[in-house]
Amino acid sequence: MKTTKHLVKRRPTDNGQQLRFWIQFAFVVLCLWIGVEFTLWYFWHEGSGSLAVSRPPGVEGFLPISALMSAWYFMLGGGVHPVHPAGLFILVAFVLMSILIKKSFCSWLCPVGTVSENIGEFGKKLFGRNFRVWRWLDYPLRSLKYLMFGFLVYAVFFQMDRQALELFLDSPYNKVADVKMFLFFKDITRFSLIVIGILVVLSLVIRNFWCRYLCPYGALLALGGLLSPFRITRDAANCIDCSKCAKACPNSVAVDRLNVVMSDECTTCMACVDSCPVSNTLQLKPSRSSRITIKPALVGVAVVSIFILVTGLAMLTGTWHSVVSEEEFSRRIKDIDNPVYQHNQGTAPQEKDVTFGDFDQQQTSSPAGDTVPAH
Ligand code: SF4
Ligand code: SF4
Repeated sequence: MKTTKHLVKRRPTDNGQQLRFWIQFAFVVLCLWIGVEFTLWYFWHEGSGSLAVSRPPGVEGFLPISALMSAWYFMLGGGVHPVHPAGLFILVAFVLMSILIKKSFCSWLCPVGTVSENIGEFGKKLFGRNFRVWRWLDYPLRSLKYLMFGFLVYAVFFQMDRQALELFLDSPYNKVADVKMFLFFKDITRFSLIVIGILVVLSLVIRNFWCRYLCPYGALLALGGLLSPFRITRDAANCIDCSKCAKACPNSVAVDRLNVVMSDECTTCMACVDSCPVSNTLQLKPSRSSRITIKPALVGVAVVSIFILVTGLAMLTGTWHSVVSEEEFSRRIKDIDNPVYQHNQGTAPQEKDVTFGDFDQQQTSSPAGDTVPAH
């Protein structure tokens, strides 16, 4: 370690990690609120609930594949598809964040990332440390998320033209994709519980196991982050080699040995910057020589601002809410076991392809008197 003690001084903290905690907390609360509202909404339409609430469009943030299709549909000139428009805007917000400040969504907003991070912290207390996967295994495992994302890109961007997208996005399956997701957790199978349990145990031992190895959303944001002008940069002349930055990094980036962090695992959490005891040594900058530096708190402000601006734009322009009416949802939820809501190897049946029971009659006339639009 260098002995240039005169360089070591406590920097005035900008409370970046405290702000990150509160932003993560607020986003988890927002997601829980959406979950509670959606549950009440579902039971009301299913007929067993007593509280009538409207469907929270934010639930579409949990339909990334549908959002990816909507994005491709938009790029092909189809405009904003009206079945899950909020999902598209949420995806756009997260991708914009990554293009500006790398995978900041993962460490500042993502509720799965927050839960995963806290499980890792708990594991550290339990075992005294988090374990690392051997390097020879770490690299191939990290590529899994890119493989999964690559498969999605191939299936959507290379296999579907505008007509195929329209068929899927307008399909009964896509219209109730949020309900199907809800039912997956409501009637969760033993197998799914075992898989989730294994992931939790692995996250206790290996920090951010899901995010690091398996999350295809993270892969997309890492690719977006390649376009970001900002990188964590270390001034080796000032550095006293204390390694506090590397120890603080939740993603095992060897910050203390790099001059510029190029890693696709960096989520711009700023924990390394906050932990560095030497002024102006570790900074988020567009280049090593640049005088422009981004303080940790500013990353948080930027992330929240992008989210509010993009989703607010959707609300202001009237493209936030699904075109599917409450009456139509109500009818479909009551008929959710119909084979028309099954999804088979990338194809979703159309209503005309399926023999309906009661649904045939419901299509013509609903209890509310409206008609299900043709698809
Ligand atoms: S390198 Fe720094 S900003 Fe990037 S993930 Fe690690 S601690 Fe966070
Ligand atoms: S850059 Fe890392 S190793 Fe260097 S002084 Fe800062 S915390 Fe210590």
